[in-house]
Amino acid sequence: MAQTIVIRCPLREEAVSTGLTTDSVIFATLPDVWVSLQCPLCGKPHHWRPGHAWLEERPDDNAREALGGVEDGSEQADHGVLAFQEQGRPPP
Ligand SMILES: [Zn+2]
Repeated sequence: MAQTIVIRCPLREEAVSTGLTTDSVIFATLPDVWVSLQCPLCGKPHHWRPGHAWLEERPDDNAREALGGVEDGSEQADHGVLAFQEQGRPPP
């Protein structure tokens, strides 16, 4: 599975995807230069360099399609819990 190159958003202090994956680039070969990124989390531009980034396994759209059956199953399970909770409430 392709890995996503992520950086830490300095404002939200959360990992954000740079939009680059190991499908499109080879992380180890990236030159250590500053790259600008419009942060998808906070909307601000950040500058990062590969020395500050790391790789994360992130399911992409293709992976989600492959796991479609699993997601359907969990949704049904959620509905099941909700229905159970509603049945458990006393009548109004
Ligand atoms: Zn940010």
